[in-house]
Amino acid sequence: MQEYDSIIVGCGFAGAVAARELAEKRGRRVLVLDARNHVGGNCYDCPDEYGIRIHQYGPHIFHTNSKRVFDYLSRFTNWFSFGHEVVGNVHGKELPIPFNLNTLAMVFGERAPKMEEKLIAQYGEGARVPILELMNQEDADLKEIAEYVYENIFLKYTMKQWGKTPKEIDPGVSGRVPVLISHDNRYFQDTYQGMPIPGYTELFEKMLDFPQIDVRLNCSAKDVLEVNPQAQDKILFEGKPFEGDVIFTGALDEFFDVRFGRLPYRSLRFEFEHLKKPFYQSHGVVNYTVSEDFTRITEFKYLTDQMEEPETTIMREYPIPYEAKEGQIPYYAINNEDNNKCYQQYVSYVKDIPNFHLLGRLAEYKYYNIDAIVEHALDFAQNI
Ligand code: UDP
Repeated sequence: MQEYDSIIVGCGFAGAVAARELAEKRGRRVLVLDARNHVGGNCYDCPDEYGIRIHQYGPHIFHTNSKRVFDYLSRFTNWFSFGHEVVGNVHGKELPIPFNLNTLAMVFGERAPKMEEKLIAQYGEGARVPILELMNQEDADLKEIAEYVYENIFLKYTMKQWGKTPKEIDPGVSGRVPVLISHDNRYFQDTYQGMPIPGYTELFEKMLDFPQIDVRLNCSAKDVLEVNPQAQDKILFEGKPFEGDVIFTGALDEFFDVRFGRLPYRSLRFEFEHLKKPFYQSHGVVNYTVSEDFTRITEFKYLTDQMEEPETTIMREYPIPYEAKEGQIPYYAINNEDNNKCYQQYVSYVKDIPNFHLLGRLAEYKYYNIDAIVEHALDFAQNI
C-alpha cells in the first residue's frame, strides 16, 4: 500500500490550502513537494540579518472581501490591521495611487472640484474605473484627466513591468489599479486588510502542521514524478504507479520539458539595501511611475509592524523577461491570445488524466490575488 493518496506539487497558498483541506476534511494522507528550501511559495518571508522581516519574493499584502477566506486564514495567524497606502513618485512629487479624488485635487488644484463633480456624475461615488475605459470619454475635462493618469501613472510603469504599453497588454492587468472615484487613499478597498503578525511563513507552517501532511522540501517534482498521458500507468511516483490525486501548482511548460514551447512569463530582480536610519520613505511602497529603471521601492518595516526598529531595509524591484535561467523565477503569466493558446495545448495534453489537477497562478497561467487563490483552493479541495 502506498503511503500517500494525494501528492501536491508546490507549497504556496494553492498547494498549502489544498493540502490542509484534503488532510483535515477528507482524511487524505498528503505529501507536499517543493523545489525550494522553504514553504510559502512567493509569500515566504524571513528576518534579514538585521532583524527586519523581508518578503524575499516581493511585497505581498493581504486583503479580501471574503469572510470565508479571512476566517479560514485566521485559524493559522493573528493579524495586524494594515490599510496599505501607495504613493507614486511623479517628478519628485508624491501622489496617492490608485489615482483618486485626493490625487485629482493635488494635480489639478482649483479645477479639481468641477472635474470631481463630472467624475461622480459619470461613474458614481466609490466607482473603480479602469484607465482604458476613462480614456474613451469624450468630455474634455475627463479626457484630460485620463491622459494625465495614463501618461504619469500607467505608461512608464507598465513599460518597465511588461515591456509593453497599457494598451498592448491584457486590460485586466491595468484594471487591477483603477481610477478611484473616492477620497480613500488606500491601495485596496476590501473589508479585511491586514498582515500576519508573525509573518506569512509561520502562517504556512501552522497550516501544514497536521498529522496527515508531510512536506518534502528541496524536492523538484521532476525528480520523483513522471506524468505521461500516453503511458498505461499515467503517473509514476518514485518509479511506481500512483493512482491517487496529483495536484500540480507549478509551471506546466517546464514540467513537460517545454514540449509545446515555452510559456512566457515576466520575472523580477530584487535589490535589497539596509540603511542605518529609521526610515527611507514615506510609505511602505513607493511606485516610480515616470522615472528610474525599477518599478517600486518597498520599505518592509511598514508591512511587518516593525515601525519602532531603529534601522530599515528597502528593496528595489526590477522587472525582467523570464528566460528560465538558473535562479530566475516566473512571477507573472503574460496573458495574450498566443500565449493562452500555447497554455491550452498543455491543458489538452493532461486533460485525460483524471487524477492530475492544475491549481494556482503558475499551473492555471493566470494572475491570482492571495484571497482569490485561497478561495479557489478551498472550493477545489471540497469538490475534488
Ligand atoms: N500599474 C501602473 N502604475 C502603477 C501601479 C500599477 O502602471 O503605479 C499597472 C501596471 O501595469 C501593473 C498593473 O497596473 O502591472 C497592476 O499593478 P499591481 O500593483 O496590481 O501589480 P502587482 O502588485 O501584482 O505587481
